[in-house]
Amino acid sequence: MSILRGVGIGAGVAQGPVARMAEALPAPENVPSALGAEAERARVREAIADVSAELTARGASAGGAAQEVLEAQAMIAEDPTLLDEVDARIDDGRTSEWAVHDAFAGFRATLEAVGGYLGERAADLDDIAQRVLARLRGVPAPGVPDPGHPFVLVARDLAPADTALLDLTQVLALVTTDGGPTSHTAILAREKGMVAVVGTAEARDLENGATVIVDAAAGTVTTDPAADELTRAAQRAAARQSADALPASPGAFADGTPIALLANLGKPSDAADAVARGAEGVGLFRTEFLFLSSAQAPTVSQQREAYRELLAAFPRKKVVVRMLDAGADKPLAFLNDAHEENPALGLRGLRALRASEDILREQLTALAEADAETEAELWVMAPMVATVEETRYFTTLAREYGLKTAGVMVEIPASALLADRVLAHADFASIGTNDLTQYTMAADRMLGSVAGFQDPWHPAVLRLVREVGDAGARLGKPVGICGEAAADPLLAVVLTGLGATSLSMAPSALSDVRLALSERTPDEARRLAEIALAADDAAGARLAVAEAAAALSPHQKETTS
Ligand code: PEP
Ligand code: MG
Repeated sequence: MSILRGVGIGAGVAQGPVARMAEALPAPENVPSALGAEAERARVREAIADVSAELTARGASAGGAAQEVLEAQAMIAEDPTLLDEVDARIDDGRTSEWAVHDAFAGFRATLEAVGGYLGERAADLDDIAQRVLARLRGVPAPGVPDPGHPFVLVARDLAPADTALLDLTQVLALVTTDGGPTSHTAILAREKGMVAVVGTAEARDLENGATVIVDAAAGTVTTDPAADELTRAAQRAAARQSADALPASPGAFADGTPIALLANLGKPSDAADAVARGAEGVGLFRTEFLFLSSAQAPTVSQQREAYRELLAAFPRKKVVVRMLDAGADKPLAFLNDAHEENPALGLRGLRALRASEDILREQLTALAEADAETEAELWVMAPMVATVEETRYFTTLAREYGLKTAGVMVEIPASALLADRVLAHADFASIGTNDLTQYTMAADRMLGSVAGFQDPWHPAVLRLVREVGDAGARLGKPVGICGEAAADPLLAVVLTGLGATSLSMAPSALSDVRLALSERTPDEARRLAEIALAADDAAGARLAVAEAAAALSPHQKETTS
């Protein structure tokens, strides 16, 4: 038995035989064309049009986030700049196969050099190039295998087109050797509720047919598992399935103490799914996601419509809307125009909004108008707040617009360390553990090479969370968690033990976290939090808490609940 490590998506566990994704088509040779430029150009256009149409059709049949991703891919395939590059090579006397291969590779290198969000789109380009090449050669595009029985799919990094259409009755779990937690593969896997572990470099040696256990909660792939390991994994999978089938009750500890379980959303149309999964409201609405491709600032009426649709889905429920969080991996053309060497440390979040205060004021206007027309309990918050002065600035401004509940995100160690003074001027705090981890560990959250540092289990991060939790308790102010950490069931329990009063996450994580909380008392959560804080590093904290939690179950649950 050996254990391969990657980054788990979600909290599921599954087991089954490996089936590997077919290898990529070999690169074409750089030989002169026998057909001539005109014929080559025509072949390329036909192949690209076919691939684009196929991607669009796949998107239409998949729907949801997959459709957006596939339609974006179809647009990339037909990008005129890319086609110009292909034509230039054909005009040089090359074959269309080589021209496509070389032009796409050039574009890929450019994206990778930019890094961040765009860098992670490089895999999308590879996929399109492969599809066009396959079409030119008249062979099937490399794709998902079909061994005739359910399997654990092992791939380098799935193309969005493949992830979108995976047959979940056949694919028990997904393991990739490349890709990080923010790759398209990860985003779509999470949306589909798949058991997935990404970035597992050693999985490249897994053989077809070998039995593995894929444990997303632990971020591991176990090869040659022993019989008792397989039984335990099957039991966990069954417990998860039955928890999923239960009607979604409000989040609560075993003794009935409530902990609100909220949803992280990026667009109003995702609200229905969140409600169906028992979200008790919204803990983070990422407004910038609505306008990532807008060149101009959105109008008040455009925004009002979107916010009204969101708020209308949650009558009498709390909905926390975050002001546009522009910068670093999420640049907005109308808010971030300065070139910065280190955009994660630059004019981003509230700083960028303050520099364009009219945009901030328009957003507050739109929110106040949507609030007046709906029954949700609207809370507003500012992203990337570093100082007490910024806190005062934002909450004062929000109140000017009649918005009753105004708070700040704690994502920068400075505001966590001064949480008591920050909270003196805010109605609530919401901890963004993704950025808080990035800044505490000085590890770019988009960079695979430092992904090992990007772990919210690190006791340094947890100490900062405790600062905020303690300050909230002293001042009687709510402290939510809205980073990915809240979606990790065991860590979610620890975070409540550190003082979090609500947890917000991708809707697909709600049932796992609901179950984990229901198995613990507040006292146990505090004890687990102490154990995590006492560790030297993230791995130590995770392991010590997992062991302590296992020792508590199930006896403690019965006697304390
Ligand atoms: C965070 O930083 O944890 C957070 C919730 O905000 P985002 O992931 O959108 O930066
Ligand atoms: Mg953030």
